[in-house]
Amino acid sequence: MCNCISEAKVNLEAHLKAQIKPETVYSYDEIGFDNECFMLGGNTIGTAIGIPFSIEYYGKKKDGSRSSKLTKVKTNLFPSYCFLCGEKLPTRD
Ligand SMILES: [Zn+2]
Repeated sequence: MCNCISEAKVNLEAHLKAQIKPETVYSYDEIGFDNECFMLGGNTIGTAIGIPFSIEYYGKKKDGSRSSKLTKVKTNLFPSYCFLCGEKLPTRD
């Protein structure tokens, strides 16, 4: 599996950190794509980016009226090929 995502992360992190004054940072929390996932396929391992897909819905109360609580269920669609170099990616099992 290619290293496009890992390489892109290094470049993107440097690009964003150039805009942050280090003296204003207490600590970094998460750095990375929102929808990245480790992929395993055969003897390869790598990172892939998923396209998020979600459903938001209001539940039903016992009396049949609408609950005020909005519930969200979400998943990711993972591509079969790297969107940067076109290499076939391992399929998720
Ligand atoms: Zn690639």
